[in-house]
Amino acid sequence: MNASEMLALDRAHVFHPYSTFINPPPVFPVKSARGVRLTLTDGRELIDGMSSWWSVIHGYSEPSINAALHEQIEQLSHVMFGGLTHEPAVRLAQRLVELTPAGLESVFFADSGSVSVEVAIKMALQYQQARGQAGRQRLLTVRGGYHGDTFGAMAVCDPVTGMHSLFTGSLSQQLFAPRPGIRFDGAWNPADIADLAALLAAHASEIAAVIVEPIVQGAGGMWFYHPQWLRELRALCDQHGVLLIADEIATGFGRSGQLFACEHSGIAPDILCLGKALTGGYMTLAATLSTREVAETISRGDPGVFMHGPTFMANPLACRAALASIDLLLANDWQSQVRRIECGLGQGLAPARALPQVADVRVLGAIGVLELHKPVDMRTIPQAFVSRGVWVRPFGRLVYVMPAFVMNDADLATLCAAMVEVVSTLP
Ligand SMILES: *Cc1c(COP(=O)(O)O)cnc(C)c1O
Repeated sequence: MNASEMLALDRAHVFHPYSTFINPPPVFPVKSARGVRLTLTDGRELIDGMSSWWSVIHGYSEPSINAALHEQIEQLSHVMFGGLTHEPAVRLAQRLVELTPAGLESVFFADSGSVSVEVAIKMALQYQQARGQAGRQRLLTVRGGYHGDTFGAMAVCDPVTGMHSLFTGSLSQQLFAPRPGIRFDGAWNPADIADLAALLAAHASEIAAVIVEPIVQGAGGMWFYHPQWLRELRALCDQHGVLLIADEIATGFGRSGQLFACEHSGIAPDILCLGKALTGGYMTLAATLSTREVAETISRGDPGVFMHGPTFMANPLACRAALASIDLLLANDWQSQVRRIECGLGQGLAPARALPQVADVRVLGAIGVLELHKPVDMRTIPQAFVSRGVWVRPFGRLVYVMPAFVMNDADLATLCAAMVEVVSTLP
């Protein structure tokens, strides 16, 4: 099939994410990908700044993950997880328990990040019910969050940017505190969490859990907040008998400079959601971890089981990709890699501070953000990046990148220069 046939069929039949079926903006046909480069069907190569939405941390077509998957596909591609188990799942569960913050000992495998958030919410509700706190059915979160596109997850996304008005009546009404306001490296002030503390105290008897993205608010605004905020939140949850759910779907596996962003604060959640980079971006897989206390309390309650079970739960190929990706991450000295990327982003994006279009420049770990004064035009901006040989997909006022940890300094410099240049041409 040639590229124009492909694009015609795409336009005729395919919905793209957050896109329209009528006169949709252009999409670019990818033929292959290797390392940090996407190859388009016309042969052009793009340096990928997005890692396919945080996930491809080792680059594309990584030899050791390819080899693990070839081996696994000959042995067991899939089998139901009800009443059966297999080595990739068991080994991965053990690995996740070892690597994640202390106390998380049970692993529930899910098929996407949003589903792992649904699972976390159901766990929190079943847990409270099982301990005789059936009145605790609500969630508390902060503004500016993003937790996925399914209904339970949507209900805790930012109420303004998170589609709430579209689905009023179908969405659970959750409680929202202001977003953490103090920057990651700012000076801590306890007033930053005072409103949340008051809301939690006033509604504690109705609240099952608090759910937040630790340190990095991702798709809700690419905002990096102060580690003390999360420490205070952990203490408040304990004080009020409320579970803490950490959504590390975007931050997990080194992206923020710690293996898990909770480690910036030295805290452990009661429930942890993982996804995105879990398989190195090869397959869709997510996991919801919980403490033994949460898992056992649910199991002692009525009906004596946790009520969830996706068809493709713990898919062996996906688990095997995850094991290979984690092995590679640990073998690669990811901390130096991420520190090097953080440095490169800091230097490469610094010139943007002088641009009148730019309101703020921030970098944390392997995440670089230009916050603009005005939203970008999604019909024209992708082409501007593609013609400069890079793949960057902004949203709203945010032009951001999260490169693979293996991107070399030259490619990183090219990527940053393209960001600064494209932004400098905007009205
Ligand atoms: C992407 C994301 C999700 C949703 O994951 P999907 O795999 O897209 O369903 C949830 N929470 C956070 C923080 C995310 O970044």
